[in-house]
Amino acid sequence: MKQHIVVIGAGYAGLTAALRVSRRHRVTLIDPKTEFSERIRLHEVAAGRGSTGVPLRELVAGRDISTVTARAVAIDLDGRSVSLDDGTVVGYDRLVYALGSRTDTASVPGAADHAYTVERAGELSARLAGGDGTVAAVGGGLTGIEVAAELAESAAGWKTCLVTGQEPGAGLSPAGRRHVTAALERLGARIHADTRVTAVHPHGLSTDRGEIPADVVVWTATLTVPSLAAEAGLAVDARGRALVDATLRSSSHPDVFVVGDAARVSAPGIGELRMACATAMPTGAYAAEVIDALSRGRQPAPFRFRYLAQCVSLGRNDAVIQAVRADDSPHHLVITGRPAARINEWINRYTLGALNAERRRPGTYRWAKPLRTTAPNAPLPPLRKPVEEPSGRRVLFGK
Ligand SMILES: Cc1cc2nc3c(=O)[nH]c(=O)nc-3n(C[C@H](O)[C@H](O)[C@H](O)COP(=O)(O)OP(=O)(O)OC[C@H]3O[C@@H](n4cnc5c(N)ncnc54)[C@H](O)[C@@H]3O)c2cc1C
Repeated sequence: MKQHIVVIGAGYAGLTAALRVSRRHRVTLIDPKTEFSERIRLHEVAAGRGSTGVPLRELVAGRDISTVTARAVAIDLDGRSVSLDDGTVVGYDRLVYALGSRTDTASVPGAADHAYTVERAGELSARLAGGDGTVAAVGGGLTGIEVAAELAESAAGWKTCLVTGQEPGAGLSPAGRRHVTAALERLGARIHADTRVTAVHPHGLSTDRGEIPADVVVWTATLTVPSLAAEAGLAVDARGRALVDATLRSSSHPDVFVVGDAARVSAPGIGELRMACATAMPTGAYAAEVIDALSRGRQPAPFRFRYLAQCVSLGRNDAVIQAVRADDSPHHLVITGRPAARINEWINRYTLGALNAERRRPGTYRWAKPLRTTAPNAPLPPLRKPVEEPSGRRVLFGK
């Protein structure tokens, strides 16, 4: 039976869900922005490479999807409706909650007042344009590394440093970490490893190793999720992420599906999934499949997923493609240099291409799943021989 599915949040997860579920259902897609933001490219925007927005209307053209430009401010779980900031109330048969995440600047004093975040990439780019001084990126996760590398390569007149509580890219293999450090140093970025930031002020950072002067600070250290799920009464974890069952239905309210960064999703053999585009799109597509199955009286199979790689861009000509096991732990296989940069760019384009393909033909998008016969941590097949590029840029295999 055709149902009215309301999707709040038109990011990677929400848009994928909306496109796929529009195959058989009527969809209302709600987001305060008129453009889909390619969040995985925000570090490029910060470095002055223009906007990453694609008009939402184009991305849903031809589908039974009504877009509503507004912010969801409340959910009536018993009455099955969503209230918007323009005063409208939208009823639903099933709700897909896909509000994503944003940088958390509340954990360290001064970060909210004196630091930029990638969500303000356009403002950051404008601040850096034509200026000079020192820009400090805080956070040694993949976003912090990408921001530091991009700015070190492109922000003329600025010295860049990366401040991190551990080693940059702590989740990568030893070869991956070595390459990240070497690439940042080659680009001229100074690395302050094992350094905890205790406060941000207008002229830099206070850390447990002393003061680090900086004219501009970019905060990437942690992520937080919108409080709407908790305020509405959905069961959430300590970070405010909605708890879901094996079919991504809220564990407290099964009419609500929660996908992407806003959900705490666990998969068999992996445990908790990390917040990533790589998990947002599969969860969005899967939730649409479940809605479809339930509306036809079928019992959905549990969510299945496996990781394949972690991608870290290091400016426009370098990157690390880190092969990972099903559970995201790093394998020793690492691709670096120009080939990795090309693969990374291809993957970035693929995400948008996959959304367009899903619009043209819902059901097209596929994601990696564990083989039923393979243990989650089964090793990759052995490599026959290392590859050297004639250009001298390395494709590194091995430790
Ligand atoms: C610089 C950078 C690089 C990254 N690179 C990678 C990468 O290489 N690989 C990878 O896997 N991941 C990467 N990520 C992480 C990835 O971008 C996120 O995990 C992904 O965007 C999560 O998708 P989502 O759909 O859950 O949320 P989002 O993409 O954040 O979308 C959430 C949507 O909800 C909307 N929204 C928010 N509040 C409301 C409301 N109240 N009402 C209605 N709508 C609302 C927002 O406007 C937004 O459109 C990167 C992130 C950054 C910042």
